[in-house]
Amino acid sequence: MSIFEELESEVRAYSRSFPVVFETASGAFLRDEGGREYLDFLCGAGSMNYGHNHPVLRQALTDYLNGDGIVQGLDLRSSARRDFLETFHELILRPRELEYRLQFPGPTGANAVEAALKLARKVTGRSGIVAFTGAFHGVTAGALEVTAHNHYRQSSTLTNDIAFFPYDGFAGMDDTIAFAERMIEDATSGVGLPAAVIVETIQGEGGVVVASDRWLQDLERLCRRHGCLLIVDDIQAGCGRTGAFFSFEQSGITPDMVTLAKSLSGYGLPLSLLLLRPELDVWEAGEHNGTFRANNPAIVTATATLKEFWENDSFARTVLEKGARLRDGLLQIRKEFPGQIVLIRGRGLFFGAVCADGLLARSISATAFERGLIVETSGRDGSVIKFLPPLNIDVSELDRALAIFQESVAVALQSGPGLTKR
Ligand SMILES: *Cc1c(COP(=O)(O)O)cnc(C)c1O
Repeated sequence: MSIFEELESEVRAYSRSFPVVFETASGAFLRDEGGREYLDFLCGAGSMNYGHNHPVLRQALTDYLNGDGIVQGLDLRSSARRDFLETFHELILRPRELEYRLQFPGPTGANAVEAALKLARKVTGRSGIVAFTGAFHGVTAGALEVTAHNHYRQSSTLTNDIAFFPYDGFAGMDDTIAFAERMIEDATSGVGLPAAVIVETIQGEGGVVVASDRWLQDLERLCRRHGCLLIVDDIQAGCGRTGAFFSFEQSGITPDMVTLAKSLSGYGLPLSLLLLRPELDVWEAGEHNGTFRANNPAIVTATATLKEFWENDSFARTVLEKGARLRDGLLQIRKEFPGQIVLIRGRGLFFGAVCADGLLARSISATAFERGLIVETSGRDGSVIKFLPPLNIDVSELDRALAIFQESVAVALQSGPGLTKR
């Protein structure tokens, strides 16, 4: 038994699916202690959009550290923070004509989600939140419930007033927005007018389920009609994953709040951000806080990332081109294995291969791992294989991953009941 099994809690998860000891990583590759290379299409669950140890980002980080740049400064002003604010405004907000204020919560995505929900409740005076079937927004619960001072407690209703409505296409339903509207309008539905609706444009953990532009537009109109705030959780789908910095850009909607985390720092350092319309900024100083609100090293690599990749739209275009190639390759593989690879869905460089069942998906993932490709399973019964390559991956590496995937499906299907229990 290794020290990992002996000492680490049973809660560990990814390490069970990919049970080697990783040592180094660069670009699209992870390497284990034995020197074996793996193409990384897990990508830190979408937190390594620019690959591992990108040399430009590493340079920015090491320069900062070697220059005695302040590392931990709570939310004190720092020149690193100023550079980030200026760069984010200049390269992200201004060209998109978006007016948002920036709130740095604690460094996890869940903390940005907490901030958004709290603020929505404070602004609207309502307690209800609408979320969708298949949603994933983080796993925190309880810290504020056991915090005593009213200063922190005031903006939270501390109720469990959540309604889950059907996501776009759920259970084959035609118009789930019309259903949602009936539910919040009808006094007999058991659902009151919510403070906010929180939504992912593409549900990552939910199995790469994509909302249509039209559905998002209808959702925005529903929110406007009923005075509910629209929160887009762009933690996984944002930061370029869909071929635009924000995943909602192509739909034309303008959320009231946007959460970002995962790939925001660009280098795999923890950093999260809540964007909020200026009118919503009714926080009292320190009402939502956290010890590591924008840790400076993460801010430094975030700024370097924006300058390296988001100065213009040429990078985004390459993401779309590679995405088209990945989609074509996956569709080809689906054709070869009808009924086993049931559906390919996604956009940008964010795709899911829906397998006949979770057993087959797990078996393909395990087989691919043996052949040097890391892909995780997600969605209902874990039946969806998720493809999250680094956005700056070489086309040859993309093709190699497709070849490994193709072979893995074939092997998993042949290996019979022992492996797939089919
Ligand atoms: C990962 C994720 C979160 C949670 O982020 P953490 O940093 O793990 O807390 C929230 N929303 C979405 C869509 C995510 O993918």
